[in-house]
Amino acid sequence: MRTACTRAAAFSLLLATPAGGGEERPPLGFTAESAARQREIEAALVALPSAARCESLHAQLTRAPHVAGTDGSRRVAEEVLWRLRETGLETEMVSYDVLLSFPRRVEVELVTPRLVRLARPEAELPEDPFSREASLALPWHAYSKSGDLTADVVYVNRGQAEDYDTLAKLGIDVRGKIALARYFAGYRGGKSLEAERRGVAALITYSDPAEDGYVQGDVYPKGPWGPETHFQRGANVYDFIVPGDPLTPGWASVAGARRIPESESKVLPRILSVPLSFQDAREILQALGGPVRPHPAWQGGGPFTYHVGPGPAQVRLSLDIPREVRTIRNVIARLPGSDPDPAVASQVVLLSNHHDAWTYGGVDPSSGTATALELARALGDLARRGMRPRRTIVLGIWDAEEFTLTGSTEWGEEHAEELRAKAVACLNVDASTSGDRLSVSAVPSLRQFFHEVARRIPDPKGRGSVYDVWASDDSTSGRGYGVLAGESTGEPKVAILGSGSDYTVFFNHVGVPSADFLFDGPYGVYHSIYDSHEWMRRQGDPGFRYHAAMASLWGVAALRLANADVLPFDYSAYGRDLVVYIDEVEALARQRRMVVDLGPARHQARRLAALGPPSTAGGPEERRRRNEALLMAERDLTRPEGLPGRPWFRHLVYAPLPSYAAETLPGVREAIIDNDTARVSAQASNLAQALRRAADRLEAAAGR
Ligand SMILES: [Zn+2]
Repeated sequence: MRTACTRAAAFSLLLATPAGGGEERPPLGFTAESAARQREIEAALVALPSAARCESLHAQLTRAPHVAGTDGSRRVAEEVLWRLRETGLETEMVSYDVLLSFPRRVEVELVTPRLVRLARPEAELPEDPFSREASLALPWHAYSKSGDLTADVVYVNRGQAEDYDTLAKLGIDVRGKIALARYFAGYRGGKSLEAERRGVAALITYSDPAEDGYVQGDVYPKGPWGPETHFQRGANVYDFIVPGDPLTPGWASVAGARRIPESESKVLPRILSVPLSFQDAREILQALGGPVRPHPAWQGGGPFTYHVGPGPAQVRLSLDIPREVRTIRNVIARLPGSDPDPAVASQVVLLSNHHDAWTYGGVDPSSGTATALELARALGDLARRGMRPRRTIVLGIWDAEEFTLTGSTEWGEEHAEELRAKAVACLNVDASTSGDRLSVSAVPSLRQFFHEVARRIPDPKGRGSVYDVWASDDSTSGRGYGVLAGESTGEPKVAILGSGSDYTVFFNHVGVPSADFLFDGPYGVYHSIYDSHEWMRRQGDPGFRYHAAMASLWGVAALRLANADVLPFDYSAYGRDLVVYIDEVEALARQRRMVVDLGPARHQARRLAALGPPSTAGGPEERRRRNEALLMAERDLTRPEGLPGRPWFRHLVYAPLPSYAAETLPGVREAIIDNDTARVSAQASNLAQALRRAADRLEAAAGR
């Protein structure tokens, strides 16, 4: 998982819980007849996941570090494989040789005004035996350039474009300097690319207590937030341009595949970078001179006034972080569909998680892997009791997500044609649990679906259903990574998909309707040594009941998609959201005094909005036609040529920004921002054509 930013906006909802009791409506996509059978299956499923088993699976998966490409990761992959085999599902391990990166030497010193050795390891906590581990001592960014340099430091706040603009107005030249940036409000790769563009020589990103430390609340082990010595490892790579193995951009890293030289890669950083703890960063911050921070928002949580420099603080970096090709291992399990029609039985509901971690993976991702294994066990059990899904369920537990979404991207590229023809949806659960509140990012067509699924799952703390807690969410404690966009209703918010986890290849490249969800909560130890079983046991999910609840929720969602008479995609919600996105982009154009004709796109969006929810009326032949259209409609929103400048990203409605936040209508929006009139009209026309393909297809199937 790549936690990019705190949730965009706090919102409170004055919402009555839908009345219970009375005749239950069939779930979206089910006839009254098949709804009864589906209810039986769901009742059987929800009874199966066990919190105690989730806890012991989690303890096993997190007992040692398991960074992709290491023995620890191979061990976890093998364990996942044999546990899946035990469930009775068909299993396979799929390996790829890909470019990874590992630290050999990371030295960071404050050299002026006094010598202080930095890059110190995280403090050992007597309460957490996992916090003592020599192999995790170095702070490092995967794929950082190696080298040795000494330079003056400039504090660049969050390291975003507007921060550098502010510094330029103060007359501060960052060229050749070391930029010291706070984490959050943007992904580290985006900060690095911006630093490169500004001529910065090296980038240090540090964890400020304002974002994930004592300013937020009690620090670990007393609370869930990060102690001053924690640092955030992670990849520094520009996978918002193209994810996956940097040497095979856009095609699978299978044996014999063409590989480009590193020097041709557009995603590898050309500067040195390293993460630091606040304990280390404050030594630099307190030694900075120059102007006082230009804006109160630049003041972090340290108990001193932040200055921007440059200097007199000087830092020396000496990094040896070789990039090497190593083997990664995806584990795939398959539960074949039972529908008598082979065309339906072979359609795929894809469940997605990854198994590699920067440290122990307490939250990210082993909470999700433990949940996935518990769900696989339940699905295997149901299948043996005659409750096999109509459509095929495939569970992919990927490797090297933490590098460049690598395992899922290579597999998705290898199987793109089959997925384009057969994939119904991708339900991604990376971390499953860091708290007790559901957080969902999804395509708009799955919004009502998730509201219904969440109503089906009891909240483990007895606060009604998961939906009830979700609807009362004031969002003050969560740290979700989605942004909200589209129509506003009284229902719980579903964020839009950015990037930063394994659905990316399926959604942005192939056009498979996708969702990403977890139980969220205060979590300040992301990618640190404290992201351990002990943290989860004490802070995230004592008793592991939310792990079990997620196995139920994920399972009910999977089985509804796998068993539905008509695929439960509500394209009218998609259409309504599209109208809002189009209005926003038009307002942006107006602000910039650009002429853009989005009338045709808006007309097509309104056709989608007029479709209404999927109907189960009519006979089997009508439903079959409707399903065919619903299966392909998301693909209509992609274009084989992709977005200008990043052809791998083919979806025309959503793309990730360098921050990992989602961007709507990226082709049109970026052309407006670049003031490129010709490109704006070409992109507006591509968008209108894509929306027309989907609207034509869905209207024809609805018999209009
Ligand atoms: Zn993850």
